[in-house]
Amino acid sequence: MIFWGIVIFALSGCTPVSPADGDYKIRIPLDDHTGHYALQDVDLHTITDIHAMAGTTAVIYDEGSFNTYVDNSGDERIASADMGTTPSAHFIDVGGVLHPADFQSLAMSAAMYHFEYIKNFYDAVDGNKGLTFPRIVLMNVTVAHNYGHQQVNTINNAAFVPSLDMFWINPFNSADVPLSFNGGVLAHEYLHNVFMARFKAVSAENIKKGTMSPEVSLNLNRTLDVAEADDWGPATDPFADSQYPSDPETPIALTNKELAKVNSFIFGGLNEGMADYFGYEYSRNPGWISASLPTQSFRDLSKDKIFPLTAGGQQRLIMESYSGQGRNSGSGLDIHWLGSFFSRVLYLAAQDWGDLAAEQATITFMDRYSNIYSQQSDKRYISMGELVKLFFQDRKPSGSLCDNVTRMFSGELAGGSLGCGATLFSTGSPP
Ligand SMILES: [Zn+2]
Repeated sequence: MIFWGIVIFALSGCTPVSPADGDYKIRIPLDDHTGHYALQDVDLHTITDIHAMAGTTAVIYDEGSFNTYVDNSGDERIASADMGTTPSAHFIDVGGVLHPADFQSLAMSAAMYHFEYIKNFYDAVDGNKGLTFPRIVLMNVTVAHNYGHQQVNTINNAAFVPSLDMFWINPFNSADVPLSFNGGVLAHEYLHNVFMARFKAVSAENIKKGTMSPEVSLNLNRTLDVAEADDWGPATDPFADSQYPSDPETPIALTNKELAKVNSFIFGGLNEGMADYFGYEYSRNPGWISASLPTQSFRDLSKDKIFPLTAGGQQRLIMESYSGQGRNSGSGLDIHWLGSFFSRVLYLAAQDWGDLAAEQATITFMDRYSNIYSQQSDKRYISMGELVKLFFQDRKPSGSLCDNVTRMFSGELAGGSLGCGATLFSTGSPP
């Protein structure tokens, strides 16, 4: 299995794509980097059948459906699947520019454009390592969640689904900008694919060496193969009204199994944070999420924020969040909320170091974190503060970057523990 993955990657990496093939000029709505969308003429380069929405970068299917159920661990799993049909996109040719003739054709064209450009964007940081092409994108896919006997269809959502190795874009029913138009949303989902591929590669190495933790090996499928990797649900900033936890937040004694669970929640949070950050780097708009999902605007990377939890508080609230509701929601924490603090760190690093340096540091961090996670996450708690320090392992923050990050994580990181700003945060003369 592992060996096959490596072979497939090697083959796909060598396949040349002629830029002259599959070129089309097409008119789609694009963000001007401030959240305002306007029609623009853009070029597609990898199309093999424009009406079927097929190309060497991505192939789109239309109106598939999946049924899911919730397993004993509270994770959602796929029970049955229908891939849907090959689309039939319609265009009006205006002087060599294809104008999509209906909404579905427009939505598919925009998604295809973004997948082409997002792939190129990740190439710049070796982000497509382990991915095969074309990527499969299911649009207008309905996902019926069977929570007990209650069936709920998914709308206004998008996901990368690790167990199926494909992307989903659900029907959009809202007055806001459709997710298929929003490059930030699609680059976010793509990051989940990038991170999962790297994590799988690192895990495979550790399995081969015999250094993968037993509980993590057992949970590998759970970590990677939850049915729906994302949830762009309603507003979930749990501390929006400053209801910070008042508990003294002493770390709690956890079994190995519980540690693996708590760490997998943090893993999910970091996955979301890195995805939000790359959504920004691709779209060049730190508030890319607000145009489509204004209730999630607490994830705008330009917003100043303070992480309100100590290491013990993180453990306690995560354990509470696992009370039967899965890892995306719960009694207090949401992985996207957790991730929004990490994305803010990456955003601040990018402002100080430049975008490419921060992107590359994030890719390096992914491999390093995957290595620690796969070997130790059932043995000890890997906290948010430790992960922030891990990101800065090769390059210490300085100046205002150091000040901002230390202030943001002051609940866990003492002054100077990042290797910077020790004097700024010292408490003065000893008694
Ligand atoms: Zn996500």
